[in-house]
Amino acid sequence: MSTAKPFPSLKGGCFCGLVRYRLHSAPLFCHACYCLDCQKLTGSAFSLFASIEFDRVTSIGAVPPKVVATSRKSGSVRQEFTCAECGTVMWTTGDWSPATADIRVGTLEMARLMEPDMHCYIENKFDWVVLPADARTCKGQYDFKTTWPKDSVKRLDECMDRIEKMGKDSTATNGDATKQTATEGDADGEVDGALDKTPTAQSPEEKEELDDEEFERRFNETERVLQERLEKLTLKLNEQDKETSDQSSSAAPDG
Ligand SMILES: [Zn+2]
Ligand SMILES: [Zn+2]
Repeated sequence: MSTAKPFPSLKGGCFCGLVRYRLHSAPLFCHACYCLDCQKLTGSAFSLFASIEFDRVTSIGAVPPKVVATSRKSGSVRQEFTCAECGTVMWTTGDWSPATADIRVGTLEMARLMEPDMHCYIENKFDWVVLPADARTCKGQYDFKTTWPKDSVKRLDECMDRIEKMGKDSTATNGDATKQTATEGDADGEVDGALDKTPTAQSPEEKEELDDEEFERRFNETERVLQERLEKLTLKLNEQDKETSDQSSSAAPDG
């Protein structure tokens, strides 16, 4: 496993830079949510989430995220992973299961990489938010099992299996992978405790002891998906740069 080349992972962090994180796989799905909770929580028109298996996010900053439990109007409780210094919420435990983390896309370094695959609670969308004609939308929440790509549903299933296994073996949840998620900044006991209760904070390789072939297969697959997205983004950024320079050269006299 140690011979595996580094995953070309996406990084992100809070506003002040104290808390940093890394995604170790390509996200499972990306959605924009226009629900009233999201509007209130963000003070904005919608939120944008990239869902990923919980154990594919690790803290890489000097200080681990602070975990805050918050209740939604629906009665569900989420854990928010925040910066204690600047208050940025970087991810929450997901809508679908405790196995997912919903990354707040704006906190990623390359946020523009993420396009929503679905727009939900469209009935609350502000009129001035105009979506592309081919955008997938739904009223209320969508069913991930029928909406996500099959590969993503499978990945989540595998993650749920990992949780189940860990539940049966709960005495072993203090493994290295948990420390990896909380990283060096173990000073903040709050985080450690919360992560311990979240079995998915364990890295799959550590616990599941994948054989090399299976690990390699998963590694290559996630790398391929991410690489595709990165290439797509690069193309887009190049196009945008070109447009910008075209515009600025034709509109130069305005100064
Ligand atoms: Zn911060
Ligand atoms: Zn929402």
